[in-house]
Amino acid sequence: MASEWKRNIPKARESLMEIVGESHVLCEDTLMEPYSHDESPVVKAMPDLVVRPESAQEVSRVVKTCAELGVPVVPRGLGTGLTGGSVPTFGGVVVSLERMNSVVEIDEVNMMAVVQPGIITGEFHKAVQARGLMYPPDPASLDSCSLGGNVAENAGGPHTLKYGVTRNYVTGLEVVLPSGKILRYGGKVLKNSTGYDLPHIFIGSEGTFGIVTQVTTKLIPLPPASIDLLVMFSDFEVAAQAVTKVMQAKRILPAVVEFMDRESVLCSQRALGKDLPFKPDEAQLLIQIDGYSQDSVDAQAEAVGEICVQIGAQDVLAATSQQDRDRLWKARRIIIEAAKAESARVELQDVVVPRSRIPELLMGAREICSKAEVPLLCIGHAGDGNVHFLILKKGIPDDRWEATFPAVMAELMFLALRLDGAIAGEHGIGTYKLQYLDRALGNAELEMMRRVKTAIDPQNIMNPGKAISF
Ligand SMILES: Cc1cc2nc3c(=O)[nH]c(=O)nc-3n(C[C@H](O)[C@H](O)[C@H](O)COP(=O)(O)OP(=O)(O)OC[C@H]3O[C@@H](n4cnc5c(N)ncnc54)[C@H](O)[C@@H]3O)c2cc1C
Repeated sequence: MASEWKRNIPKARESLMEIVGESHVLCEDTLMEPYSHDESPVVKAMPDLVVRPESAQEVSRVVKTCAELGVPVVPRGLGTGLTGGSVPTFGGVVVSLERMNSVVEIDEVNMMAVVQPGIITGEFHKAVQARGLMYPPDPASLDSCSLGGNVAENAGGPHTLKYGVTRNYVTGLEVVLPSGKILRYGGKVLKNSTGYDLPHIFIGSEGTFGIVTQVTTKLIPLPPASIDLLVMFSDFEVAAQAVTKVMQAKRILPAVVEFMDRESVLCSQRALGKDLPFKPDEAQLLIQIDGYSQDSVDAQAEAVGEICVQIGAQDVLAATSQQDRDRLWKARRIIIEAAKAESARVELQDVVVPRSRIPELLMGAREICSKAEVPLLCIGHAGDGNVHFLILKKGIPDDRWEATFPAVMAELMFLALRLDGAIAGEHGIGTYKLQYLDRALGNAELEMMRRVKTAIDPQNIMNPGKAISF
């Protein structure tokens, strides 16, 4: 990217201060440093400016100013992304949505909510749950990520298995386009076949098409009954096979089937600093059944437990007290953080395969990492075929790491492709996976993506260098 626009930064700074007020334009390195990275390893770049608008009108004026001056704009939620999406690779202005964090409306009659993009996803969950409603997409980072970031990444989570991803809940969007124009698409309607489905083109576009300034989502009644099962396996491969067996059970659709190998569980146990309410085995499945009648949920849980025992599970524990359930879920949710506490560098590979291929994926990943002698943790939303491989550098010397690690990452992605899967299940491409995109997609698809990007953002100022390269 040409850097002629860099000369325009002082002018941009002056104009942006007029729009959002001096205190919401950051220009000192110490204040901008938190906006120079996300949660991905090694992707880091300093912005030229950070701006924190508080309304769609302010976002619009900020983007218009940047477009006129040719300055790149990088939308940012809460920086929990794992592929470098909100990192200003080429510099420019980071537009942080952190101040736009309100619930605008919870419409109980239509079972819809209207929210600002900077709201923490977990806070939104609590707000709708207080009304007996549920917004199902639940990334493991829900206590620290934003709904706008979820829309931009089409985030999923453990409950994707039964309830789907962010895309399945968004019915309307307000977006500031790269020109600064504000567009509103869709609304509180459950179906809409008026022309192209434009809102959905923005979902999963990683901030490259515009800035989401308001989201309308549908809600569902909160299922009052649920049960969490922790299933222990002394054989990793049997645990992998159990995922597909459980999913084949007739008339049962678990809300969650999460996979954790022994090393992941031990790692999260060390981070919690106390024993978990179970002993770590070779691998475990965390299975949740939910529904609208406790009897039905209990009967389904029993059937699932029996399937697991038949295939070779050592033990099936039902977490009945809220305290045990919280501990189980905490142990699952903190694994990435726990791994980071033990290894300065943790690489995370997020791939997805048809769930019938889960055993091949898990066994194949183990083989790749053991050949390369790199420590691997396997976790993930295995019930929907989406697994995360965490590769820890730990004490591996830099030269051996540099010689081994890139090939390991590539092999894991190619393994997923060979198994009819995809190289990103829910964390997007960002910059982290850009070099693999041409192996994952054909020339015609890449060309179509470039043409769509160019049609929406002819100047290529909106989050340049992410999701697609030119
Ligand atoms: C411990 C941990 C666990 C995680 N677990 C999951 C998981 O289970 N499922 C999952 O899907 N992800 C998971 N993630 C990844 C991450 O939390 C999600 O990608 C999340 O959606 C990012 O939200 P954010 O607000 O932090 O966005 P950011 O990191 O700030 O940005 C992510 C992308 O969205 C764009 N963006 C942000 N806000 C907007 C907006 N308003 N308009 C347009 N573009 C915008 C940015 O430009 C960037 O490309 C996890 C991350 C961590 C650290």
